[in-house]
Amino acid sequence: MDAKMDIKAPRGVRDILPDESWKWAYVLDAVAKTMADFGHSEIHLPIFEQTELFSRGVGDTTDIVEKEMYTFVDRGDRSITLRPEATAGMVRAAIEHGLCEQNASAKLWCWGPMFRYERPQKGRYRQFFQIDAESLGLAGPVADVEIIALSAEIFRRLGLKNLEVVLNSVGCPNCRPLYRQKLIDHFSARKGELCETCLGRLERNPLRLLDCKKPECGAIADAAPPIYESLCEECAAHFEEVKAGLTRLNFSYKTDKRLVRGLDYYTKTAYEILSGDLGAQNAVCGGGRYDNLSESVGGPHLPGVGFAAGIDRIVLVMEQQGSAFGKRPGAEIYVAAQDDSGRCPEARSAAQVLTHSLRMAGIAAEQDAGDSLKGARAFKAQMKSASGSGAGWLCVLGPSELAQGAVTVKNLQSGEQFSIALQDALQGRGPWGRRPCSRQAE
Ligand code: ATP
Ligand code: MG
Repeated sequence: MDAKMDIKAPRGVRDILPDESWKWAYVLDAVAKTMADFGHSEIHLPIFEQTELFSRGVGDTTDIVEKEMYTFVDRGDRSITLRPEATAGMVRAAIEHGLCEQNASAKLWCWGPMFRYERPQKGRYRQFFQIDAESLGLAGPVADVEIIALSAEIFRRLGLKNLEVVLNSVGCPNCRPLYRQKLIDHFSARKGELCETCLGRLERNPLRLLDCKKPECGAIADAAPPIYESLCEECAAHFEEVKAGLTRLNFSYKTDKRLVRGLDYYTKTAYEILSGDLGAQNAVCGGGRYDNLSESVGGPHLPGVGFAAGIDRIVLVMEQQGSAFGKRPGAEIYVAAQDDSGRCPEARSAAQVLTHSLRMAGIAAEQDAGDSLKGARAFKAQMKSASGSGAGWLCVLGPSELAQGAVTVKNLQSGEQFSIALQDALQGRGPWGRRPCSRQAE
């Protein structure tokens, strides 16, 4: 078939096709199990929210809010935004449903598409997918360590190699103003050497100057005073305890005084997990603490800590590292009908029934659904499909099998052939062995 259609997927978004989607399922399985082991419950959040949730929550001096959001006015004249991240929605949901009332805490996770109007490139899309975990209502450093450990454990189970945990503290509203001023003083003294973006951010969001990727600005940022000297007592103690906790759990990490996140809501802990195999888009995971996010969207005081990891990038790294994704799901048994050039239509009917019976017994089975009213195509064409299907076994039903109430079964790897009772096969029994997921009563 020629691809001659003019309508294509919009720039920066992509289809996750079957060759890739089964790898995603493998990753998400491991994620769901790890989340459960760490006590996080899954929730499903809306993909769009009121724009204000992000402009106030993520912060309107951030790149995300300034230039990356997909915002539109709906038919009811409301400003709606496709979520660029999940944390603000998590906090909104927890408050709306009182999940953290009376000092309760909530450990949650979700996954799904996020939307940012960015310049598309490898590992960077306009619709991308994140796994997101949040611990809400927990202010102590143990929660930060749990979150970092949870993200690292997911990657350990997936077999990701060559990762680095990078950690920093970004202070809190008590100590950050002082540090902000120190940064403004530092960078202002070398204003003439800064790039456009940094100049624009200097007064509004000076912390972001620390993570400018341009070498000229980077050198000035390297010389900036580290935040550690400015942290208040509480933030300093919190940071020390997070580091001690990671050490206790045998995690290796690096501190980086230039690590700041692109979202305004972070307080105290900020961290990223970087992959040595991703080139420019090297972050597989980012997160930290956000004790004031809830208040900034009009909620009560609700401390929280969490992370988001990009599924697209995780799969990309795993592919590059040649990681195992388990077995690709596919047909185990291919059922073929030998209808004697149309003289034995019963063979086609029996093949249809056997295929469905095997599926009901929890065995992945495939048949030739045919290209005509009659059903299955010529036997030769079915054999070709069988060998291309990846199935390990072939069941053949023809006139002689039907006369004997039997099925011819062939092991497609070894070539070994058996004749078994059709009755048995219809119950899912055969040389392929029993399936644990079979619901068939014995
Ligand atoms: P980056 O520095 O790569 O832009 P970020 O700091 O914007 O990342 P977060 O907002 O913290 O990232 O999102 C967490 C994770 O989501 C990232 O570490 C990355 O794996 C993934 N991610 C972020 N933006 C994109 C995107 N446009 N396309 C694909 N994955 C993304
Ligand atoms: Mg980004």
